[in-house]
Amino acid sequence: MILILKPNTDPESPEWAQLTRHLDSLEDITWTKHEIEGTEQRLTEIYLLGNTKALSPLAMQGLPSVERVVRVQNSYRILGRHGHDDRQNGFTYNGLRFDQDSLHVFAGLCAVDTEEHVERMMQALQEHGQQTTRMGAYKPRTSPYSFQGHGAACLPYVFDLAGKYDIKVIAMEVTHESHVEEIDAALEASGRPTGVMLQIGTRNTQNFELLKAVGRQSVYPVLFKRGFGITLDESLNAAEYLASEGNPNVVFTLRGVKTSMGDPHRNLVDFAHVPVVKRLTRMPVCIDPSHSVGTRDVAPDGLSDVMHATAQGVIAGANMVLVDFHPVPSKALVDGPQALTIPELEWYLEDVAIARDAYLKRREAARSRQVSGHPAE
Ligand code: PEP
Ligand code: MN
Repeated sequence: MILILKPNTDPESPEWAQLTRHLDSLEDITWTKHEIEGTEQRLTEIYLLGNTKALSPLAMQGLPSVERVVRVQNSYRILGRHGHDDRQNGFTYNGLRFDQDSLHVFAGLCAVDTEEHVERMMQALQEHGQQTTRMGAYKPRTSPYSFQGHGAACLPYVFDLAGKYDIKVIAMEVTHESHVEEIDAALEASGRPTGVMLQIGTRNTQNFELLKAVGRQSVYPVLFKRGFGITLDESLNAAEYLASEGNPNVVFTLRGVKTSMGDPHRNLVDFAHVPVVKRLTRMPVCIDPSHSVGTRDVAPDGLSDVMHATAQGVIAGANMVLVDFHPVPSKALVDGPQALTIPELEWYLEDVAIARDAYLKRREAARSRQVSGHPAE
């Protein structure tokens, strides 16, 4: 059960003291407090665990400071939507808002290779008004003999350059909890000129100990990738580990699933699940067209498959796009064949804007018809 408190409830107030005294007195019930920083207000939610079936929602509704009571299903207790649950979602990080209405493009290097390539990428992003990027330092590779990423060694110049080009958030994969400490130490040493969204890759979707460790910190939000060979339900449950440990600032990424039916793409593109994840959970949804499609091939209409897949996700309401670019794809140490090039960045962003505009019009049309739920309901 979740108690949603009145906005901006003061933890020093007598009502708060009365409420927590009452919660402490409940038998077989433990509770935790979660703060959600919205654009206009701070929202406090209280999660009750244990024998909550014995509690009367009506009685809980009458407690001081409580605005609303939500009965949760067993799945995705914190990140999920429960019933007709229209609670505020998302978070603000380093000045940027991430929720189910926002849209950010994280174009950048799959793997950091040279300082020069990082600089050329970030400079191009700034020239095109972008404040977000992707930069892989720790790479989970299929073969132990492949380039594993520069790791901590590249962080100082990546963060310094991000500061120079006004990049606010970098998506960066971590494959071990020590990487979070290395990122934190490097950011601190460089004076925190930028922010990092910690990425959990598809190979680690169910690495529960990593999820728990990343979930125990809430300094950095998390970009969580769907597992490529498990059900959507299993991936959503895995994301919940982050929130259950204390960090609900999670963006859920669709990146395609492994099946030979996806041929000739690297994975079968699953962006029809954008609205599904938005319906089942309150997480912003990211799409990764590069790791889904896996090539730079161009269709007869002149648009690359990566651009087509991007538009499909954005027109379905995606909130973030993670996409591989590289100044010289032939020299990229990881995933060069799927990277778009810097001269294509302007066109790519224009194409995203077209798809976004179409999505907003479609959403407006739905609202003007006041369609709530399924028309057949
Ligand atoms: C990546 O984004 O660099 C990556 C390795 O993706 P995935 O985990 O989806 O394969
Ligand atoms: Mn990659």
